[in-house]
Amino acid sequence: MRLSQMLFVTLRDDPADAEIPSHKLLLRAGYIRRIGSGIYAYLPLMWRVLQKISQIVREEMNATGAQECLLPQLQPASLWRESGRWDTYTKAEGIMFALVDRRQQELALGPTHEEVITMLARDLIRSYRQLPLSLYQIQTKFRDEIRPRFGLMRGREFIMKDCYSFHASEESLKKTYQDMYQAYSNVLQRCGLAFRAVEADSGAIGGSGSTEFMVLAEAGEDEVLYTEDGQYAANVEKAVSLPAAAQPSKFTSYEKRETPATETIEKLCAFLKCSPTQVVKNVLYQVLYDNGTTVLVLVSIRGDQEVNEVKLQNELTKLAGQYGAKTVLKLAVLDADAQKNWSAKPLPLGYIAPDLADDYITRFAQEGNKEQAIHPQFLRLADKTVLDLKNFVTGSNESGCHVVGANWHQQFKLPEIIVDVRKAKAGDRSVHNPEQILKSTRGIEVGHIFQLGTKYSQAMAANYTNEQGEEKPLIMGCYGMGISRLAQAAVEQFYDRDGIIWPVAIAPYEVIVTIANVNDATQVEIAEKLYHQLNQAGIETLLDDRNERAGVKFKDADLIGIPFRIVIGRAIANGKVELVERFTRTCEEITIEEVVSNLKQRIDMAKG
Ligand code: ATP
Ligand code: MG
Repeated sequence: MRLSQMLFVTLRDDPADAEIPSHKLLLRAGYIRRIGSGIYAYLPLMWRVLQKISQIVREEMNATGAQECLLPQLQPASLWRESGRWDTYTKAEGIMFALVDRRQQELALGPTHEEVITMLARDLIRSYRQLPLSLYQIQTKFRDEIRPRFGLMRGREFIMKDCYSFHASEESLKKTYQDMYQAYSNVLQRCGLAFRAVEADSGAIGGSGSTEFMVLAEAGEDEVLYTEDGQYAANVEKAVSLPAAAQPSKFTSYEKRETPATETIEKLCAFLKCSPTQVVKNVLYQVLYDNGTTVLVLVSIRGDQEVNEVKLQNELTKLAGQYGAKTVLKLAVLDADAQKNWSAKPLPLGYIAPDLADDYITRFAQEGNKEQAIHPQFLRLADKTVLDLKNFVTGSNESGCHVVGANWHQQFKLPEIIVDVRKAKAGDRSVHNPEQILKSTRGIEVGHIFQLGTKYSQAMAANYTNEQGEEKPLIMGCYGMGISRLAQAAVEQFYDRDGIIWPVAIAPYEVIVTIANVNDATQVEIAEKLYHQLNQAGIETLLDDRNERAGVKFKDADLIGIPFRIVIGRAIANGKVELVERFTRTCEEITIEEVVSNLKQRIDMAKG
């Protein structure tokens, strides 16, 4: 491709609305343009990158035996009602774009395709003889993200590869899951990226396991905890660890103490000169269930620990049945504002005890303009970390006062429901080997593989007949990979102050031939010849034949991140050109004759 004929517009300055390097660079280098919030145009250079990634993904998917198809993006609401996800996706999470057509039929723009694929499986898979079966597609997805940001990282329209597998047994599912794990590792390896496969939260869907694939980068939205022996890595949402041992309490008898202005654990411990491991902290949450019931949740946890809200939400989902509900719609920490909606009198925030009285709760809560049912009792949960505490410090339900030397079964009733909702953190000891200390790193989730089980097949009656002639629900797996997010993640991992540094395998072009002076007829002639030869040899080449100063061209070449640059300049007098490697910045003169073979060798090596 000739740069002079390409839609090629680079920006000199960082765009104002871009926060992270990869977003700035993709905008500046003319790869993407913002059309609206979370909506981007992929310009020609970007589209080449996306197609290269798609092709790698396609090859690795095909190698597992999965078959490519293309499912509709317009999805009838009835399917989502069958699976029970219409309300969650359109109202609670609100992540799905829903619309009504001219016949008054409700439709949605696909954020994911479990419903569509399960409908197909219900209609087309009859017998165990057709199993296992995997189908995948590479397609644009739509999600009305609350906070679209970082360019392609969290868009409202983005490209995803999604794959779904169907099985007659758990073993078969596990085998495909393992194959997918390998395929995902291969994709990221081939793209030249540093990544980590981590244990992930499978949320309310349950299932026996899920793994996220994280591209390591500072700007990543996810935190990963891992041990250096390579035996453990998990998303912080899911991670487990051993908490530090609690220090023995310095208090020996129960009493109430005045502790003015100690509404945080830090202030309290400084005031009482005690360790936060001697404190039982009581955190209030408000959970909204899908049947409209709001429950106030009081979690007692050791003072040095934080609540992991993902784990808490999973526990609350398990308890949904107690309240006649199926699932959690919303979970939030309770703040001074929110409590006005349901509490008759002000709560002693910062001084709450495990036995905070239920009569704080009035019968109805105000959510927007709607009156909502509110459960009249606190749901009291104790995290495991408080079980063994003796003579602990905790709130007194009176502002400005705490109690010390308290014990379960004496001054306080231990909550009946014991949970593990503690947030693991860097510095904790690992469960598999307490000598291993957890470390923290940040990553960008580019893929997530999932053992779904029978959640969708049961809800939508997608059955098959097994060898014994019995009807059984299909066992399913699902496997997602963010193609457009992956492309940007690569930039986030490889850039310098001059621009992008594409890994060779996914670069839009492998080589850029820069003519230093287009007014020099010999330079132009040699460049044209090389350009032709490179193309002939199957090397993807850009020719910078623009009438610009050499300095401008070099800057642009660095910015757009083409792995190899051939400069046709004065050295042609000696039959030579310059070869510059973008990644290492090494620069050497080579003869014109060896350009093609030299580049071919480097490219093949880089692609592995
Ligand atoms: P996240 O936790 O980042 O919101 P998710 O768990 O909702 O992602 P999945 O539903 O598992 O994501 O989707 C599969 C893949 O699609 C993700 O691993 C990610 O790479 C990509 N993806 C998800 N949401 C977006 C988005 N808004 N923009 C770009 N890519 C996305
Ligand atoms: Mg996820």
